[in-house]
Amino acid sequence: MQTIESVVAMQNLSRAAHRSGRTIALVPTMGFLHDGHASLLREGRRRGDLLVLSIFVNPTQFGVGEDFEAYPRDLARDRAVAEGAGVDVIFAPPAGEMYPAGYQTYVDVERLTLPLCGASRPGHFRGVTTVVSKLLNIVQPDVALFGAKDYQQLAVIRRMVADLNMPVEVVGMPIVREVDGLALSSRNAYLSPEQRQSALCLSRSLRTAKALYRSGERNVATVRERVTAVIAAEPAAAVDYIEFRNGDSLEEVAVADDRTLLALAVKIGTTRLIDNCLLGEE
Ligand code: AMP
Repeated sequence: MQTIESVVAMQNLSRAAHRSGRTIALVPTMGFLHDGHASLLREGRRRGDLLVLSIFVNPTQFGVGEDFEAYPRDLARDRAVAEGAGVDVIFAPPAGEMYPAGYQTYVDVERLTLPLCGASRPGHFRGVTTVVSKLLNIVQPDVALFGAKDYQQLAVIRRMVADLNMPVEVVGMPIVREVDGLALSSRNAYLSPEQRQSALCLSRSLRTAKALYRSGERNVATVRERVTAVIAAEPAAAVDYIEFRNGDSLEEVAVADDRTLLALAVKIGTTRLIDNCLLGEE
């Protein structure tokens, strides 16, 4: 396994891999790896001859007052996890390598980025689509893997790749959870033991919604009431959004079906957590 910090070195390595007929799989991350990232890496290992893990805490996707500086970082530990997952190359550029002086180009996906996290975090998706475009141009993967934990991000990236004719297959992977239901996230590291317990209200409310849907409830207003009640029962939780949207268009829905996305953003103390499910999934 090698670590590359330079954009040109990464591009040269990718070009050489393609010339020798090898396929490339890319897993883009912000590091502080957990089992969610590991599941993407495992699938990437299966799908590409060369497995590239990018680790870059991307400043342009953090808003003013968000946790860019505080975001957990541990490259030594990430290296060990990556090695264990069979990663061939870690691409970990310094910020100045990705955004050198004079930088002024951004990628913007329109309607899909307006609701949900796009509404709560203005400019966030512009940062995401810009950095993912850059990573795709640098690593030139045949396949890039993303988690459904960031459902809207996955939808936005699929849209961008289709709209801009990017020659890469986007693979979405299911959410990996702790045994008690908490979706794995690098930001879980911010939670105290008590807050971690409180954070279970997110996955609990998703389970409640799915059970209600399974029992035949199709009225979104009714499901929303129950989800809101589960989260309200947790004093440490403050709702950013609870939304029911079409899983493809992300347009709001009033009547639920199997493809209805329930997306949550909830603050536990100062930590903003997101989670989601499709009502029709197991
Ligand atoms: P991040 O490092 O948080 O930017 O995440 C990097 C990639 O890992 C993104 O595609 C995320 O959606 C994915 N990811 C993060 N947490 C999980 C999880 N619990 N299950 C599956 N994928 C995840």
